[in-house]
Amino acid sequence: MVSSENRRKLLDISGEDVTSCYQCGKCSAGCAMAAMMDLLPHQVIRLVQLGQVEEALASRTIWLCASCLACSARCPRGVSLPNVMESLRVTLLRLGGRHLDPVRLPADVLENAPEQALVAGLRKYT
Ligand code: SF4
Ligand code: SF4
Repeated sequence: MVSSENRRKLLDISGEDVTSCYQCGKCSAGCAMAAMMDLLPHQVIRLVQLGQVEEALASRTIWLCASCLACSARCPRGVSLPNVMESLRVTLLRLGGRHLDPVRLPADVLENAPEQALVAGLRKYT
């Protein structure tokens, strides 16, 4: 359960005024990851607008977002969706919801993945 305090913090962390989104869907239409998402980017924003943060936090979408900024470049209202996605991830991680356990990473990933990719991935997912 996400408290109203955590909801407020989430919006503070993102620095975004999600109420300015008018659900045109341009962000979702231009998102390269949309086909793999269970909620489209504009649907995540809608849930945050409605205060239904738990549903947004339970979504795979927040972890699949690549922070590529394509959506924010297309948004006619200047909403930075990557900031909202990041704030959702940070909120969940602060609540103890680690998305990836480094100990369980396959040995071939640890041996072969570039260090920078590992560090970036661990920053995002843990
Ligand atoms: S493009 Fe902007 S205004 Fe349109 S749905 Fe996405 S976030 Fe909302
Ligand atoms: S920043 Fe995330 S939500 Fe926006 S277009 Fe890129 S992958 Fe999609």
